[in-house]
Amino acid sequence: MYNYLRNLWKGDQDIMRERIIIGIACLMLVFSGCLHVKGAEISSTNTTEKTTEKTTEDTIVTAKSETKDDAEKTKKKKKIYIDPGHQSRANGGQEPVGPGSSATKAKVSGGCCGVSTKIPEYKFTLKLGKKLKKALEKEGYEVVMSRTKNNVNISNVERAKKGNKSGADICIRIHSDSIDDSSVRGVSVLYPSTSNPYPIKKQAKKSKKLAKTLLKEYCKATGIKSRGIIVRNDLSGTNWSTIPTVLIECGFFSNPTEDKLLNDPEMQKKMVKGMVSGINKYFGY
Ligand SMILES: [Zn+2]
Repeated sequence: MYNYLRNLWKGDQDIMRERIIIGIACLMLVFSGCLHVKGAEISSTNTTEKTTEKTTEDTIVTAKSETKDDAEKTKKKKKIYIDPGHQSRANGGQEPVGPGSSATKAKVSGGCCGVSTKIPEYKFTLKLGKKLKKALEKEGYEVVMSRTKNNVNISNVERAKKGNKSGADICIRIHSDSIDDSSVRGVSVLYPSTSNPYPIKKQAKKSKKLAKTLLKEYCKATGIKSRGIIVRNDLSGTNWSTIPTVLIECGFFSNPTEDKLLNDPEMQKKMVKGMVSGINKYFGY
């Protein structure tokens, strides 16, 4: 009986030992599991840190490339052709309104004259054109002018051809409006349409886009009333052009108030600012 009990106890002890061993083994397993999980966490943390570092690096790279883009944008490697309308003496000689056209127009018409200021259109357009050139160059654009003096004899076709040869990206023709109704006022921008019969037709969409941005920014900067963008396919200076071309009628010289306003140096600063902004918007700067 004793022996039986001893053996039983021993058996129990064995079971106990077995249980303790299993228990310890389980604890070890759990412990090692924790370690493993902990290791995984560390590893995961490392991955996160690495990802963060990579993201930071990416951000730096992006920031660097943005800075590079900004620098490139600041340079504005675009060329603008400015054609200040008219000249001191009109030229009634005729020339075709477009390549291959039998219809003709005067080489350069006389332009209008300020009803209050008595300033002729050709003086106004050159003054504003030069101011625009200076402002665009300050922005980083390259600028070519059709004329830099009033006493010249350059026809509208010749002006367009000069613009084509200049390698400019766009052409801005500057004019002021006139009508036999002194109450009419406002700015309009004329552009060739897709139904234009001459090669400028290919630039119709771009010209329209330029007309829109130019008009919007000009009105915003000056507060001058908008008369909208207007299709004109009868202008020889536009029809002979092969680059996106618009003609801005800055306002009415036949309206006494607007005439004074358009010839005011402070207003001209605003006009130039608006035109520069419109050109920037066109190019996406
Ligand atoms: Zn004109």
